[in-house]
Amino acid sequence: MTDIKSMTLSELKDEITAMGEKSFKAGQIYSWLHKHGAVSFDEMTNISKEFRSKLEKNYDIYTCTIEKKLVSVYDNTVKYLFRLHDGELIESVVMKYKYGYTICVSSQVGCKMGCKFCASGIAGFIRNLTASEILSQIYTAQKDLGIRISHIVMMGVGEPLDNFDNVMRFLSLISDENGLNISMRNISLSTCGVVSGIYELMEKKLQLTLSISLHAPNDEIRNQTMPVNSKWNVDTLLKACRDYTKTTSRRISFEYAMISGVNDSDECARELGRRLKGMLCHVNLIPVNSVKERDYKKSSDNRIAEFIKILEKFGINVTVRRTLGSDINASCGQLRRGEGPK
Ligand code: SAH
Repeated sequence: MTDIKSMTLSELKDEITAMGEKSFKAGQIYSWLHKHGAVSFDEMTNISKEFRSKLEKNYDIYTCTIEKKLVSVYDNTVKYLFRLHDGELIESVVMKYKYGYTICVSSQVGCKMGCKFCASGIAGFIRNLTASEILSQIYTAQKDLGIRISHIVMMGVGEPLDNFDNVMRFLSLISDENGLNISMRNISLSTCGVVSGIYELMEKKLQLTLSISLHAPNDEIRNQTMPVNSKWNVDTLLKACRDYTKTTSRRISFEYAMISGVNDSDECARELGRRLKGMLCHVNLIPVNSVKERDYKKSSDNRIAEFIKILEKFGINVTVRRTLGSDINASCGQLRRGEGPK
């Protein structure tokens, strides 16, 4: 059976006309799926019963159902544990900011990247998510909360550039004016540094914000915390970033988890400053969040303030990410895939 929610409107038109139906019906179906978040063909009341049953025989509507929902008592951040059609479990988080609601979506069931400070890879990697499964996280959360989500960060479980084609398809569906029509400018995609994917993404010249999980100023530290660095080291990664900013004219956001005694010394700040100086970029410091299997400690507020001072001397724009949802393990690096059926 075909995954109908991963199809673009023009692909759907081709299929529908090949079935001997009028092409405008594709627009109606597309709108049910992507504007109204329909989870079954029965909801599509402006489509004849006969055609609906034909659709049902040929297509699947992949959805995700809410297995568990946690709400932070501090800031109303909501974390969902979603069950996919094959029983696998993933997490997504909805956060409220002044400018609207942001969802942090997962792109894979588990993760292969193995960053030492992150919970997402601890239970291993199972499979990629389809475009429809990434969309479903948004549609289901919107329906459940009765809200309109305006911003998306691809910072949940998984490495988006390791699931390149499905992620690109997701981006084109979510920004389609016939669907939720979320502007690329309201979307961030985060990568641990899959350089081949950065170059591929560059060619697409999208208006989204590229975030790079850098977390170390040099190979010595990065090799210890991020296995991906053995494939693409800091120089190679930063060269790709400079190429990216040149080609797209988009500012890159570097994420840097502040880990006490690991990457937070004055010397680390100076080295980072030297390497990023003059680049069209921004540094986002994240006091490292706790992951129960690991014993990394976050840097003190003073240490973070000193680190910022040094980076600013290099003319670098720095912010500290506000931690949301810490009481429900919904912060950066705390999301994980749940246990599937088996
Ligand atoms: N795989 C992609 C998408 C995940 S985004 C990537 O690595 O960028 C999640 C962000 O949280 C990444 O920047 C990741 O490095 C960061 N992170 C992981 N564990 C963390 C932790 N314990 N504390 C703070 N940030 C963490």
